[in-house]
Amino acid sequence: MKNINRITSFNVDHDFIVPGMYVSRIDGDIVTYDLRTRKPNADDFMDNLTLHSVEHMLATFARNSALSDRVIYFGPMGCRTGFYLLMRDATNEEAYALVKDILQKTVDHDGEMFGAARKECGNYKELSLESAKTECKRYLEALLERENLGKADFKYDEA
Ligand SMILES: [Zn+2]
Repeated sequence: MKNINRITSFNVDHDFIVPGMYVSRIDGDIVTYDLRTRKPNADDFMDNLTLHSVEHMLATFARNSALSDRVIYFGPMGCRTGFYLLMRDATNEEAYALVKDILQKTVDHDGEMFGAARKECGNYKELSLESAKTECKRYLEALLERENLGKADFKYDEA
């Protein structure tokens, strides 16, 4: 494994990451966003129930949004401090508006957890709408706070 390439995201100093929405990488016409919901390495990880529940809600709302045909992928970070959103043919501002919209829709959701059936999910009992709502509310507040500070620029802070 001597000549293995470091992946781009390992080059960001994770000690300076705070909750926000960031451009992680650009590959041709596909932009990968980090939806960082928690500060890394701060003993403040999402539990797996929360991670999984947010994934179900946001992925479903994203795929049912006006930008659905531009959403390539939505999924959790293995470190449990955020999610990945891959978009095609969307501006950063459009992607950011989408994220705020699907967070609010989750917070306001008055219905069932999406995909909570044995045939639809690999661990369908490990889902909680309340956990998803709590995390989405918290993350939306963090995004708005960063926006109010004029820092919603999709760039990770530097040291
Ligand atoms: Zn699932």
